[in-house]
Amino acid sequence: VRRNPAEPEFHQAVAEVLGSLEPVLARHAHLRELRLLERLCEPERQVMFRVVWTDDHGVPRLNRGYRVGFSSALGPYKGGLRFHPSVTLGTVKFLAFEQIFKNALTGLGLGAGKGGADFDPAGRSDGEVMRFCQAYMTELYRHIGPHTDIPAGDIGVGTRELGYLFGQYKRITNRFDAGTLTGKAHTIGGSHVRTEATGYGVTYFLEAMLATRGDTLDGKTAVLSGSGNVATHAAAKLHDLGATVLACSDSTGTLHDPSGLRLDVLHEIKTARRKLDAYPELVPHARFLPGTTPWDIPCDIAVPAATQNELDESDAIALTKNGLRALAEGANMPCTPAAIDVFRDAGIAFAPGKAANAGGVATSALEMRQNASRERWDFPTTDQHLATIMREIHDTCLTTADEHDRPGDYTAGANIAGFLTVADAMTTLGIA
Ligand code: NDP
Repeated sequence: VRRNPAEPEFHQAVAEVLGSLEPVLARHAHLRELRLLERLCEPERQVMFRVVWTDDHGVPRLNRGYRVGFSSALGPYKGGLRFHPSVTLGTVKFLAFEQIFKNALTGLGLGAGKGGADFDPAGRSDGEVMRFCQAYMTELYRHIGPHTDIPAGDIGVGTRELGYLFGQYKRITNRFDAGTLTGKAHTIGGSHVRTEATGYGVTYFLEAMLATRGDTLDGKTAVLSGSGNVATHAAAKLHDLGATVLACSDSTGTLHDPSGLRLDVLHEIKTARRKLDAYPELVPHARFLPGTTPWDIPCDIAVPAATQNELDESDAIALTKNGLRALAEGANMPCTPAAIDVFRDAGIAFAPGKAANAGGVATSALEMRQNASRERWDFPTTDQHLATIMREIHDTCLTTADEHDRPGDYTAGANIAGFLTVADAMTTLGIA
């Protein structure tokens, strides 16, 4: 806390991991002697920079850009960019720290990083977003590259923004290094399934969790938060696997459709960049509840997929009382520590984001592979790879939790398995 003041989300993420690792450090004295944990909690590098761009009236605007390279023990720094007014250095550090364990769990040779800016894309024209992306990349380009640091999307950064970012990178460097950014549109080297991957991956993880309890998603009711990339694709895959998705949300409130969300209508609204209150205009029996979260709607399955600390203890109590069976975090750290305690005490299957939402970064690694070999895999092949990776991550978490006397504890399993992989690489690389 003394070295990293005013970074509560970073402290929260570190505290959660350290809590799981105590028994591991007690068992492996050499890891303590090498001070691996202290080293792992200090980013290898952090850059902060000024981003100046002009709005549609020709007025110069100022934002702050960030990129944190947390660990390159397993491969080049890898992690998304977030454009949201709430972004601070502490936000980026917490996300990059989580990424260490997530990326290690994929087994795909990925280091960990994250970046972003306090830019708010809401209400900005396409031209403004493009000029912001170009200004942001004009500094970022010197810190990244296919063997150094490979950004992707996150909140506020999707295919459109990645296209503008890559366009500027290509212009400045005079190279078509497609492997420098992942999540690109298919026409410029993007992989099939990358857009869907995080949401699909969460659902494959849930499927595996329920299977350990002799259950399936078929016939279940589900509630999600958010209605962005992760939430909409999780909703689509839950629907494919027989679940009924009752609700989702955005920053203005919750959309509840008791007969199951119409994904075609949702898609139409999101494509037009409209808010969810437009849905009842097209589906009159649905209700939009301004200023609320979806957690008091009874459901079997919950997927928080908006942002950090969006589900607190009282939400967890409400979900538990209403019969929740399983929760998988689609967002990064969406549940507060007190909420997680409620789920643990109630015996509800709980999957942390660093395991359940790893499908996005895993498919980014598949995009890097395709960019390097100039191959193009089709959708079903890539989706099959993703499903296999998610089942493997699920099994690794469970086996590791078992081996460390925490049966069924996916959080402990994810933290310990991720840590041991990175610790092994750091030991092999020598002190640095
Ligand atoms: P998007 O920008 O596509 O969507 C974000 C959604 O969450 C929107 O519906 C947005 O509402 C809502 N939201 C964002 N911030 C807030 C807030 N402070 N309060 C309430 N609602 C909010 O982002 P993604 O779907 O890509 O990301 C969602 C989460 O998933 C993040 O935690 C991200 O880190 C995580 N994640 C994403 C991955 C990816 O591949 N994209 C990979 C792994 C994790 P509104 O539109 O009104 O702002």
